[in-house]
Amino acid sequence: MVKLSQLDLLKFGHTVGMVGVVYAGEGRAFLALFPEERDLTAELENLSMGVEDWQKLMTQLDTLETEVTAREGDGTIKKAILRKSARTIEANISWRVFKRDSYKCCYCGKDDVPLTVDHIICWEEGGPSTPDNLLASCRKCNKARGNTPYAEWLESPYYRRVSVNLSAAVRSNNLDIVNRLADIPRKNYIKSR
Ligand SMILES: [Zn+2]
Repeated sequence: MVKLSQLDLLKFGHTVGMVGVVYAGEGRAFLALFPEERDLTAELENLSMGVEDWQKLMTQLDTLETEVTAREGDGTIKKAILRKSARTIEANISWRVFKRDSYKCCYCGKDDVPLTVDHIICWEEGGPSTPDNLLASCRKCNKARGNTPYAEWLESPYYRRVSVNLSAAVRSNNLDIVNRLADIPRKNYIKSR
């Protein structure tokens, strides 16, 4: 059993995101993963969460409309609202990006793997979740890039290796993006509370 205090809370909602929900009852428990997370490979750990832990976690998460209830020591029910993480990219934005990018990974050109959207300017750097800051990317390339700045990523041995499979048009488009990085508006996610 892991305690929240043993983990870096700041990673929640950023590099550690919501991938599904747990339903339980009638003696059974189900972990229901979101469709894009079907290949989740990490081992599941039990996170021990008290009321205070939930409050901390919810303060950390930028959040929309999931109610969480917890029973306090005196038996009263404490209700809190969990809102959807700002990190969560609206599904329709993702589909617009996939369509624009011809349902292929912009880095390796694969079209037979599940796609994700990769932030050109990283989310942590204030890059917005809008189509002009997103590229279709397979999970492998997305993971390989991590938070590497975009221009640096195009110089990386990994990108150099996989991008040989791209069409000339996609490759030059990737390079052109470097010149318009400054035009992409940054968003300030830092919260005052
Ligand atoms: Zn790829």
